[in-house]
Amino acid sequence: MVMSRVAVLPEIRVPADRPFVLEEVEVPPLTTGAVLGRMVLAGVCGTDVHILHGKVPVRTPAVLGHENVARVEAIGGEDEIRDVTGKVVQVGDLITWLPKSCMQCYNCTILGDPSKCEKRVGYGGWVVPADQFPYLVGGFSEYVWILPGSDLVVLPPDLAPEAVVLGDALRIMVHGLERIGGLAYGDTVVVQGSGAVGLMGAILARDAGAGQVIVIGAPAARLELAREYGADAVIDITQVPATERIQRVLALTNGRGADVVFECAGVPAAVAEGLEMVRVNGKYMIAGHYGDAGTVSLNPHLINKKQITITGVWSASNRHFLRGLHLLRKIPLEKLVTHRFPLAQINEAVLAAERQETLKAVIVP
Ligand SMILES: [Zn+2]
Ligand SMILES: [Zn+2]
Repeated sequence: MVMSRVAVLPEIRVPADRPFVLEEVEVPPLTTGAVLGRMVLAGVCGTDVHILHGKVPVRTPAVLGHENVARVEAIGGEDEIRDVTGKVVQVGDLITWLPKSCMQCYNCTILGDPSKCEKRVGYGGWVVPADQFPYLVGGFSEYVWILPGSDLVVLPPDLAPEAVVLGDALRIMVHGLERIGGLAYGDTVVVQGSGAVGLMGAILARDAGAGQVIVIGAPAARLELAREYGADAVIDITQVPATERIQRVLALTNGRGADVVFECAGVPAAVAEGLEMVRVNGKYMIAGHYGDAGTVSLNPHLINKKQITITGVWSASNRHFLRGLHLLRKIPLEKLVTHRFPLAQINEAVLAAERQETLKAVIVP
């Protein structure tokens, strides 16, 4: 009998309450097509912090952890199983697995947008509660029990697990770039926010042909990373007030404003500010508001007068992750994983993430 340590979230509590409880549970026998993964890395995401603040609903008790890399330990049954690209999955493979869209609902079939599937299920809080079979349904665990029919991706052997964890943030930005129709070569891109999504947005913009990338955020350590990964200019929001931030962007763009602004901050005020930074006929893409952070007053005249196109982007579908793999392979992203915690220190890990001490923390069980 295989036992697994697992960090269970019995109910929604803030990180300061040390909400996770370490348990030891028996790994249920695999049914046909199920996969047992031994966790290699699980990323701690801003979404996990939102969950602990009650801003993103999950089914408790929960096993969180949705940015996962595991080694295939066993496969249930005799039949071959394949990943989303058709590759046969084998014991020993390094894998990740993506939120599953039903491909049958209105949004999946008529709209053709699986990222907005009405019945989407993801590991790390959404599949089934942690007190129901198969219990090990998130990455903050030693083992994960992956349900038959899940959307697995067999990872190329030359890909660092750290990079894959960052793929969760990257795929959202790949999706966003697709929605705005990509960049024009030489575009100036402003990225509001210097968390994982913001940094992956900046790296993606560079790779997609941006001529100038400006990252606005905090703290200083994250902005330093942004520079290291190709940002031409950074603006520290703790040092530079909003009106001056707008002036700086205008100064860096011959007074015209940026061609494209990515909102990756999740702060409503950033939207009002960002619209001031977009040029005439420019684009504004909202990617950071995964939790409902409330409202903001903004001036529609700006949108009208400057003919700004505003686009929202929510999560991503499999193709965005798969397209993002090319970037994950090309650029060494390991340095963006700034903190590693053992499973027993999951409470410390989410606290560090909440305090923004980490760019990306991972749990190494
Ligand atoms: Zn995430
Ligand atoms: Zn669907």
